[in-house]
Amino acid sequence: MPLLEKPKEKHTIMLPPRMAQIAAETEVLVIGGGPAGLGAAYGAARAGAHVILVERYGFLGGNATAALVMPFVSYHTQVPHREEPGAEILYPTDHGPGSPVIAGPLAELVMRLVKAGGAVPPSLKTGYTVPFDPEVFKFVATEMLDEAGVRFLFHSFAGDIFSDDDAWAVVFETKSGPVVIRAQVVIDCTGDGDIASRAGASCEIGRALDGLVQPMTLYFRMTDMEKDVFEAYVKKHPDQWKGVHGLWDLIEAAERSGDLDLPREDMLFFGTPHEKEVAINSTRVIKVLGTDVWDLTYAEIRSRRQMRMIAAFLKKYVPGFEKAYAVQSGTQVGVRETRRVVGGYRLTSDDILHAHKFEDVIARGTYPIDMHNPEGKGTVLVFLPPGESYDIPLRCLQPKDVDNLLVAGRCISGTHEAHSSYRAMSICMATGHAAGSCAAVAVKNNLTTLSVRYQDVQDELIRQGASLGR
Ligand SMILES: Cc1cc2nc3c(=O)[nH]c(=O)nc-3n(C[C@H](O)[C@H](O)[C@H](O)COP(=O)(O)OP(=O)(O)OC[C@H]3O[C@@H](n4cnc5c(N)ncnc54)[C@H](O)[C@@H]3O)c2cc1C
Repeated sequence: MPLLEKPKEKHTIMLPPRMAQIAAETEVLVIGGGPAGLGAAYGAARAGAHVILVERYGFLGGNATAALVMPFVSYHTQVPHREEPGAEILYPTDHGPGSPVIAGPLAELVMRLVKAGGAVPPSLKTGYTVPFDPEVFKFVATEMLDEAGVRFLFHSFAGDIFSDDDAWAVVFETKSGPVVIRAQVVIDCTGDGDIASRAGASCEIGRALDGLVQPMTLYFRMTDMEKDVFEAYVKKHPDQWKGVHGLWDLIEAAERSGDLDLPREDMLFFGTPHEKEVAINSTRVIKVLGTDVWDLTYAEIRSRRQMRMIAAFLKKYVPGFEKAYAVQSGTQVGVRETRRVVGGYRLTSDDILHAHKFEDVIARGTYPIDMHNPEGKGTVLVFLPPGESYDIPLRCLQPKDVDNLLVAGRCISGTHEAHSSYRAMSICMATGHAAGSCAAVAVKNNLTTLSVRYQDVQDELIRQGASLGR
């Protein structure tokens, strides 16, 4: 593989000191414009704080756009698990129907996406999943935050943080050289806890057993597929397609002929708002970490090779895909799991599966434990009881050893197993909303983020339309 090898030993060099331009001072600085960052910037701005959101790419959305993760999985309560082969082709049948447990900015975003023709609204037909168009998402998300009063800086990678006279100073690497933004409260929405860890927050990575994380996946879209032909195949072979995954017999035939070496157990793809298109989630790269640049380089090259092979398989073997082609892949490989910042509480799979309730609830979730095997093929899904949801306490967003810095999204405090549920984008947006509201409440009351009253954060969230189940 054409890869710069990772050095066996760590040789280091001291960098010369350098000057950085101070770009701005703000009350709340949100780093990362993924689902969590969108929620955080919205929550803080709607609570009346001055907010700057900084993002390394030139657009918002995080995995939703950069990694083409194109459906919000269900954020509705579930009914007993149903397997109805062929019943709801291209959409999951194993979530919902039920009631939404997340509202606020997520509900507004979904409503705006639907209105712009960029999403399918949640319903029984989609299993309460919301497939969306990532290009519409980029535009709608930017407009929504613009209207809330958020200021943006794009193309800026947060590399460091230090405290500077009662405020944080965050250093961004940009084409204009190093740029510093000073802020009273920083919210780390990088997905990876990049800045929380630089600030000294304790972090955990991977499963307790061996530190392995969930695999990476390069998502891609195939267009010009003939849906009716595919549906006819599924109707004829109902045991071969379970809502969003399957095709075992065709995979076996292709593997026997040497046309396919599938890294996961089956083909997994979702419908999109476009009739002739599917979003394919079937590449898999294991034993790689999203905070390691050598692993990321390897995963990009390996997953792109898998994508070519899978697209060719679909064209050659799967009815309805004869004329289809891969029109787009993610700007980057999708990273499921990296650092989990240790907070005042560590959410567990027990809390999730027993639908635990907390006094200081600031967000809720219904998504199952969804574990893609860190070591190879296989995926485990464990559902909450029907009609139930679990609470996420404010303490999961508060690093236990750093004040005035909050985390939101997939890097909040929890176990490896719990993370596999709360990583869903809707839940990330809800924890972001809570972090933004908490930051604004702290700033407005001259308090620190560790000393705010959780009741005041809940009041602000409810004022902004959040659903906390009480
Ligand atoms: C292959 C795959 C399939 C998935 N399927 C689904 C699904 O079907 N439905 C669902 O709801 N969820 C799904 N998920 C999970 C979900 O996409 C993520 O857990 C979620 O997007 C995390 O949101 P986030 O905002 O915490 O982080 P991210 O979405 O990763 O966003 C982080 C943002 O921060 C930016 N950033 C990162 N580091 C820096 C830095 N140092 N400086 C500046 N900016 C930075 C990034 O560019 C990005 O915009 C999937 C994930 C993967 C990888």
